[in-house]
Amino acid sequence: MTALHHDALRNEALRNNWSRNEVRALFELPFMDLLFRAQTVHRANFEPNTVQVSTLLSIKTGACPEDCKYCSQSGHYDTGLDKEKLLAIQKVVEEAQNAKDKGASRFCMGAAWRSPREKDMPYVLEMVKQVKELGLETCMTLGMLSGEQAQQLAEAGLDYYNHNLDTSPEHYGKIITTRTYADRLDTLGHVREAGIKVCCGGIVGLGEAREDRIGLLMQLANLPAHPESVPINMLVKIEGTPLGEVDDLDPFEFVRTVAIARLLMPQSYVRLSAGRETMNDEMQALCFMAGANSIFYGEKLLTTANPEAADDRKLFQRLGINTQSTQDVSDESREEAIAQSLRQQQMGTLARDAMAPRETVN
Ligand code: SF4
Repeated sequence: MTALHHDALRNEALRNNWSRNEVRALFELPFMDLLFRAQTVHRANFEPNTVQVSTLLSIKTGACPEDCKYCSQSGHYDTGLDKEKLLAIQKVVEEAQNAKDKGASRFCMGAAWRSPREKDMPYVLEMVKQVKELGLETCMTLGMLSGEQAQQLAEAGLDYYNHNLDTSPEHYGKIITTRTYADRLDTLGHVREAGIKVCCGGIVGLGEAREDRIGLLMQLANLPAHPESVPINMLVKIEGTPLGEVDDLDPFEFVRTVAIARLLMPQSYVRLSAGRETMNDEMQALCFMAGANSIFYGEKLLTTANPEAADDRKLFQRLGINTQSTQDVSDESREEAIAQSLRQQQMGTLARDAMAPRETVN
């Protein structure tokens, strides 16, 4: 690839105005053509044989008041999950140290809350500070945040906040009724405004149509700035939840979704998240080929099983994949990507304004 071609692919990159037809056309490409395009764009933006590794710990498990129809932690369904209160700070720090020793560069802490209560905030802020002191990047997922809570987390040094959009706006009402799509977008706005990096993706295999996968990816790619981290989850069917027996998604459709996430958000980390334990090594390799470059490593993925770290290491060895350490993730490059995307968006708005017919003012 010439340097000029390489730069063109990088710069072609950041758009926030993807249309439904454009995204649909990507889904309709022959599988190999799509994979080739995604891999080419991936190579222009990332070290192709490197995968970022995060570890996830559930810091408060179960009894969640939300009714997400896929979730083992929702208090609305009987899934037989053992509930746990907020973990002690000391315990969280020990787990973070373990994760670091096993090669994780980022430690994600998840709580099954609608949103954190004020009395919980001092504990979670202290967790962020102490985990950061170990030299790990920190990420939290605590439900909806107010602007003030996002600010507090930013001041404590939180690097990433995870808040997924889950599915398309059209399908959303079939999956969650206790909070709206707009609530989610508000939280994402607060997180971005506080200067915390955004981790935001969705779940496929919820019984949605391809149009919904298109809608989800459009929403993510057309946010004011692309999330730095985009988890693509494959539904893990949990007995006792309303989606416990939904039909399986074609694995190739999952790989397509990963590839299109890579094409639409070329400078974001695309993460293989929940559902990886149901994928064989060959399918995971296809996902890496399609541009996935981040995984959760070992232990448990909140409350769903995740392949053991040793299996992951073996797979990486077989594929010649290296893991990325925290220092390799350049904040500057990510910040520049956001700035560039916002600049392009402004340019787009200016151009549209300039071209728009003048309205008559009564
Ligand atoms: S996905 Fe999160 S918000 Fe929804 S029920 Fe599960 S823990 Fe609660």
